[in-house]
Amino acid sequence: MTSSRLTVVSGPTAVGKGTVVSALARQHPELFVSVSATTRPPRPGEVDGVHYLFVSEAEFDRLVHDDELLEWAVVHGVHRYGTPKAPVVAAVEAGRSAILEIDLQGARQVKTSWPGARFVFLTPPSWEELVRRLVGRGTESAEQRERRLETARAELASQAEFDHVIVNGEVGQAVADLVSLVRL
Ligand code: 5GP
Repeated sequence: MTSSRLTVVSGPTAVGKGTVVSALARQHPELFVSVSATTRPPRPGEVDGVHYLFVSEAEFDRLVHDDELLEWAVVHGVHRYGTPKAPVVAAVEAGRSAILEIDLQGARQVKTSWPGARFVFLTPPSWEELVRRLVGRGTESAEQRERRLETARAELASQAEFDHVIVNGEVGQAVADLVSLVRL
């Protein structure tokens, strides 16, 4: 596919990608926001088919084997995450703009497979603030947090690969910045 109707939002753990993309989707229901498949178990409150498609290792293998994913990656060294291809293609073919919220490895794959896509990197106001948000979220063990911060360090170093960088200091402003970049 080649279309500027695809926007990829990436950025380090706990920077608030989910919050910013959900707020964008609420303001612009005409946008298609991709629901990823993952082998990670659901966190309390997460709903299958809404936050993620929670799949088994065998089902993820099948999705990869049958070429049903636009991209996929092992994130934070543990679970697999991937973007189901058909819903994104269908949305874009229907004239909608589509948003993917994925990690750096996935963004790099989309860069190769979808020329014309736009790449946005969400960054925290500071490293200290990122650590504060991750700890404040309280959903990870100390060991998981360490692993995520390690990935975050590498991801922050990749900003130059993206078309746009948005600092997520205040959610409303970050959403407004993102709206100005997405083809509505
Ligand atoms: P979490 O487990 O906190 O929901 O997500 C962990 C990471 O996985 C986040 O950085 C998120 O951007 C990334 N992620 C979520 N869905 C996908 C996907 O479909 N593909 C890729 N490559 N990364 C994803």
